[in-house]
Amino acid sequence: MTVTEEAPAKKERWTAQWKELYDEVVDSGLCTGCAGCVIVCPHDVLSYNHESGGYKPFHIEEELGPTNCVHGEKGCTSCTRACPRFRSWEPEADEHLFARARQPDEVSGIYQDLLLTRASEDMVHQMGQDGGLVAAMLIWLREHDYIDAALVSFLDGEAGDWKAKPGVAVTREEILASAGSRYTYSANTLASKEAAERGLSRLALVGMSCQSSILPVAWHRKVGKSTKPFLFNIGLLCSKTFDDAIFEELFETKYGLRKQDMVKMNIKGVFQIWMKDGSYHEINLKECHAWTREGCVHCPDFAAEHADVSTGGIGKDNDWTLTIVRTDLGREVITRMIDDGSIIARPADEDPGAIKLMHKLSEKSRERWPDTAIAFPKAMAPH
Ligand SMILES: Cc1cc2nc3c(=O)[nH]c(=O)nc-3n(C[C@H](O)[C@H](O)[C@H](O)COP(=O)(O)OP(=O)(O)OC[C@H]3O[C@@H](n4cnc5c(N)ncnc54)[C@H](O)[C@@H]3O)c2cc1C
Ligand code: SF4
Ligand code: SF4
Repeated sequence: MTVTEEAPAKKERWTAQWKELYDEVVDSGLCTGCAGCVIVCPHDVLSYNHESGGYKPFHIEEELGPTNCVHGEKGCTSCTRACPRFRSWEPEADEHLFARARQPDEVSGIYQDLLLTRASEDMVHQMGQDGGLVAAMLIWLREHDYIDAALVSFLDGEAGDWKAKPGVAVTREEILASAGSRYTYSANTLASKEAAERGLSRLALVGMSCQSSILPVAWHRKVGKSTKPFLFNIGLLCSKTFDDAIFEELFETKYGLRKQDMVKMNIKGVFQIWMKDGSYHEINLKECHAWTREGCVHCPDFAAEHADVSTGGIGKDNDWTLTIVRTDLGREVITRMIDDGSIIARPADEDPGAIKLMHKLSEKSRERWPDTAIAFPKAMAPH
């Protein structure tokens, strides 16, 4: 018998650098502002614009200007390797995390379990946006020596200023201080610099859907040591974030609601705002649309499809976290937390409406992916 063996196809060398990233992602409108490129840049030539209307990376070296990079010309490719919107990011991250391609019905990503969970401890539960699962999980991961710290979002400055700011949470107090949701953007990844300076080398990342795809994409494309400290990845379900200008331009100017006087906000079909004086206000989401952050306009990922555990607030019970357990590591942690009583869990099947809504919103987000970009995310949308 004659066996003819075809030589395996030679893997193409990865040469794409900031120049390609700028053209294909930043300038084309696909950039979410996740800051993945910024934190992996080994030459520190990428910076980040946190201001209203910005939320984007930019190149700071003068030599070749804002659209090209001298280190890239010499062979550096780190930024494109870490970008979760560059080329075939989605199947690559699926492959890396789950070792298989996604099926057409897996529009909310691949997962193992769907649960409704809440922190057992009243204090943690109350501080959390929904069931307080994220805060409970971070406290648990610290206490059980999985991580040294978490990259989260704090409120900047004095209490009452709603500017979300990336930060490092080490202690239980810091984790609780970071709990709750802010609906403006916080590139939590940027706190990795502070974590490194403080010698914190085992990290959990809490981030919006767009941020939770950075790590598997970067690992798949072998970025190198900058992503090694990340050991646990918690995603927040997300259909959009708002530009910070919404506070002054809509809430204050039209409704007289000053951000200094707000105590809590949530989005449940409407924008809900609770004020210090005890009053409660609802603002129609359609009215808020004009302040949608630019980076969200083309985002196809509602369900934080590449986290270890993804968390959301949809469902009929406000004070439970919809919990999507995706990876083996995620399942190990959630199972141990249920077994030792740190969280209470019930099957999400008890609220079929929540599951249906999650898939519906995932489909809706996929339709936002432009036809001009690589086909995969849009191909998962209903036609
Ligand atoms: C901007 C935004 C949009 C969201 N949209 C939806 C949605 O459409 N549907 C849905 O089901 N769920 C959505 N969520 C998720 C939901 O609000 C809760 O975060 C999630 O259910 C976890 O609740 P928890 O009580 O378990 O978390 P908590 O214990 O309250 O912990 C929340 C964690 O999120 C971090 N965080 C808060 N705000 C931000 C921010 N702006 N950027 C990055 N990190 C932040 C905090 O630092 C904290 O670590 C959104 C969250 C955010 C922040
Ligand atoms: S999507 Fe993220 S990694 Fe990609 S260019 Fe924008 S900020 Fe950088
Ligand atoms: S919709 Fe949410 S996940 Fe998507 S880019 Fe905006 S903040 Fe990121």
